[in-house]
Amino acid sequence: MSGPQERPEIPEDYTSFRKSLLQGESSCLQVTHAYLERIKKDESRAFLTLFDDQVLTQAEAVDDKVKNGNGGRLAGMVMALKDNLCMKGTRTTCASRILENFVAPFDATAVYRLKREDAIIVGKTNMDEFGMGSSCENSAFGPVRNPYNAERIPGGSSGGSAAAVAGRLCMTALGTDTGGSVRQPASHCGVVGLRPTYGRISRYGLVAFASSLDQIGILTLSIEDCALLLNILSGTDPKDSTSSSMPVEDFTDLSGDFVAGLRIGLPVEYFQDGLQSEIKEQIYETVETMAQKGASVHEVSLSKTDYGIATYYLICTAEASSNLARYDGIRYGHRNGDGNSLKSLYEKSRNTGLGKEVKRRIMLGTYVLSAGYYDAYYRKAQKVRTLIRQDFEQAFQDCDVIIGPVSPTTAFRFSEKIDPLEMYLSDLYTVSAPLAGLPAISVPIGFDTDRLPIGIQVTAPAFKEKRLLKIANWIQACRPLSIHTD
Ligand code: GLN
Repeated sequence: MSGPQERPEIPEDYTSFRKSLLQGESSCLQVTHAYLERIKKDESRAFLTLFDDQVLTQAEAVDDKVKNGNGGRLAGMVMALKDNLCMKGTRTTCASRILENFVAPFDATAVYRLKREDAIIVGKTNMDEFGMGSSCENSAFGPVRNPYNAERIPGGSSGGSAAAVAGRLCMTALGTDTGGSVRQPASHCGVVGLRPTYGRISRYGLVAFASSLDQIGILTLSIEDCALLLNILSGTDPKDSTSSSMPVEDFTDLSGDFVAGLRIGLPVEYFQDGLQSEIKEQIYETVETMAQKGASVHEVSLSKTDYGIATYYLICTAEASSNLARYDGIRYGHRNGDGNSLKSLYEKSRNTGLGKEVKRRIMLGTYVLSAGYYDAYYRKAQKVRTLIRQDFEQAFQDCDVIIGPVSPTTAFRFSEKIDPLEMYLSDLYTVSAPLAGLPAISVPIGFDTDRLPIGIQVTAPAFKEKRLLKIANWIQACRPLSIHTD
């Protein structure tokens, strides 16, 4: 391992790069070039598509804008996008054969907002097919390696984005989080991962997996970068009727002492058997440090935690079966049929274009929505979802934030969880916030004995991202990490 000081061209984060850019000590061209060189040498398979022919020209143009004093708020931020976000004129595969050659004809609202502020988008990142998975092993184009240990998974489904940020292949990245797909890979790769409140960021141009849960999220090295991106991405969008019209505060103002007097809730259900002891210890240590600075710690109960996985997997598969019906071999490219009948065209195209896990979920989702089973499964799951939300409402009467683990273990080995149920169970701590529509963040707090990163999860009431970011910033400052390098 070498420190960032041995790679002077790779900055600590965007915030520090911006300072030197504005002082004329760095340039967008130089830094973009440096990242492209790293990406080309990298073997983690974090990227599916690289825009190396166009970004250098763009970087030069942004340098000119900065010199003229009209560079955007993200001028020179070298970024990556998860490959389920549409960017005009570029491939958007969702890591699926069925979209292998799909070129997006428009920009997602989030992408439009990034471009408007002069972010430099270098490429699209690998993921679990359509966002379905927790390890990136479900990518049709091969799994991503964890930058800390090539034999371990990076987490999923935004594993490519997390690995790219952790491996210093870009400054920041966007991912998406339906049941944990930003927070869990962030935790496994030792970076910051924010899932904002449902509706905070427009989903227009995000390829749908489970529409009532999907939310775009942010992966960064520092909380400052995360806050800056949230400022730019948040806000209502006429193209997404579920986007929120709540006012957007300035999230970058992270000042003030808010730990003194902060009420921290620790859910009893989150610290039971099955949680790796080193994760538990480091979370307790962090909370203890906060208590020493005047925070009070309260035991709270999220009594429906055990039903979270079942509820999530019923709802997300039901929504996926409906959303993915559009991939029929007629639209979006991939087609496989003998021309004999429409039915065989559908069957063959879907059979060859979709991976095993995606098919499993479509079948499960179709089943739980079908007549006779709807009430027993889908409707029941919706009722439990309400109870889970109420659990949080109750808990937030006694605390300002809830703190817990992100994942029961640190990054596991490839092929370690072959049984799908075992894989699903690893989402225990991340599915509740999306079911309740709440914002949550994963912040790196240390390493286990195998030198694999450990993350802590902070969850806040809806639209309290500012509170979340302030606390996350405090945690990051009190548990500084040596971030991954070569
Ligand atoms: N691991 C979860 C799943 O497989 C979450 C995925 C996600 O958030 N996209 O559904």
